[in-house]
Amino acid sequence: MLTLAKDPIGELSPPDDAARCNVDGNAPTSSSLLDLDSLEIGNSFADLPATFYTRLQPTPLPAPYLVGISQSAATLIRLDAASGGSEQFLQIFTGNQNLPASKPLAAVYSGHQFGVWAGQLGDGRAILLGDVATFGAEPPGRIELQLKGAGLTPYSRTADGRAVLRSSIREFLCSEAMAALGIPTSRALCVTGSDQFVLRETPETCAVATRMAPSFIRFGSFEHWYYTDRLDELKTLADHVIDRHYPHLREQANPYGALLAETTRRTAHLIAQWQAVGFMHGVMNTDNMSILGLTLDYGPFGFMEAFDARHICNHSDHAGRYAYHMQPKIGHWNCFALGQALLPLIGTVDDVHLALQCYQTEFSDKLDRLLHAKLGLQSLQPDDATLLQRLFDILQESHVDYTQFFRRLGNLQIDNPAADEPLRDLFINRPAFDAWAQEYRLRLQLDSRSDQDRKIAMDAVNPKYVLRNYLAQIAIEKAQNKDFSEVARLLAVLEKPFDEQLENEHYAALPPDWAQSLEVSCSS
Ligand code: AMP
Ligand code: MG
Repeated sequence: MLTLAKDPIGELSPPDDAARCNVDGNAPTSSSLLDLDSLEIGNSFADLPATFYTRLQPTPLPAPYLVGISQSAATLIRLDAASGGSEQFLQIFTGNQNLPASKPLAAVYSGHQFGVWAGQLGDGRAILLGDVATFGAEPPGRIELQLKGAGLTPYSRTADGRAVLRSSIREFLCSEAMAALGIPTSRALCVTGSDQFVLRETPETCAVATRMAPSFIRFGSFEHWYYTDRLDELKTLADHVIDRHYPHLREQANPYGALLAETTRRTAHLIAQWQAVGFMHGVMNTDNMSILGLTLDYGPFGFMEAFDARHICNHSDHAGRYAYHMQPKIGHWNCFALGQALLPLIGTVDDVHLALQCYQTEFSDKLDRLLHAKLGLQSLQPDDATLLQRLFDILQESHVDYTQFFRRLGNLQIDNPAADEPLRDLFINRPAFDAWAQEYRLRLQLDSRSDQDRKIAMDAVNPKYVLRNYLAQIAIEKAQNKDFSEVARLLAVLEKPFDEQLENEHYAALPPDWAQSLEVSCSS
């Protein structure tokens, strides 16, 4: 067995790619939009042998209604979002009616949960409908459609195969928010609801979220075959992923080593993007890690508000394994778990280590670039690391709101400290801010950019709007009373996270006092 590197990345020294599922802005003309009957559905995953999945139909839910739909996700598959209101749309995306030609299935996988081998898991409540062509995505290709919460599967174990409205709205909004932030992620086409109840801490109503990703294959999909000693299936799966998603790796001397290296690189970049924007996934188990480096399986996630590097967003994570400052290490740990599973294909432990080696530098370089951009710095200077470390120290000391800080930092004027007031007001220890701001001003002078140009550049990378828990909670509570207007409004705000949106200024506000008691957990 490979031994896992202890502490592969040190304590977070403070935290390009376009999101692979993102639309490039070329909206299709209305004449090119498809209706549901014209959506040509394939299922490349079903090309795998039958041991990889179970074919089954979703379990219907009574009287579904539309909770939310993403126009931009619909555009990605050329679907007319106006059809979101139709009965046919509701029935199909609740799992009550088949998309023509679709042969739904649930996939098997396993995984390490909270660092412990959990054995077989699998799609316990997600059902893959198939894949459809994308439009305007980079790279062009096909994207899979999956219903989450569509009923029992052979992998449901003791659970009920359902998802509740609360968690479905959170996944829907966050998937689309992350895509708009330019962070690789699965997408969400829509959420439908039903008045059928399921039991969580209290009875809650069911919902189905339609997710989209080029592939939902996870690190745990590989671990499944490795730990059951089914090496033929392991190879079949690796070949499937290489052929469909990484064809250029086929020319490499060791394509499986190259697959591990590429996934490691993408994972390192993904987590650098999470750290930079202050996103916490909450459950970075290997069954939630995408082989394509996408943010996957939104559960008890959170965005950093009052900065605390040790913040734990998941109330069920008692040991803080997935705390903010742990994410880079855990990302590395997870890549090691994938390396372990791929070892029989790669050949030698040395080659596995070689493939994993890029994590640290890819992560640090990416984070460094992102943080330079967040601070509006153009050049690389020897003392930048110290400037960044000092910044994270004062953010920590004053528990400054992470998103507001970077957004306001863009307004700093080199020769006018009086304009710093709104920024300075975020700090409890203002002299500490003053000392840092003085250093920062000196540093800015090493680059030759005007205040105005720097602000434009910084506003393009420091979002004004992120999915704060309290914003999601307001939308959820209204939706639980059948008012879905806030889901739509919040989605519209989050789709333009870098715009000022003067009429939506209040969506950038600090959390109200009642939000302090909000807890998100694995219950979903
Ligand atoms: P998660 O923690 O959401 O990543 O889920 C871990 C495993 O539990 C996966 O195999 C899920 O499909 C399964 N699971 C979670 N919730 C349910 C549910 N309500 N019904 C069936 N399976 C579930
Ligand atoms: Mg999961």
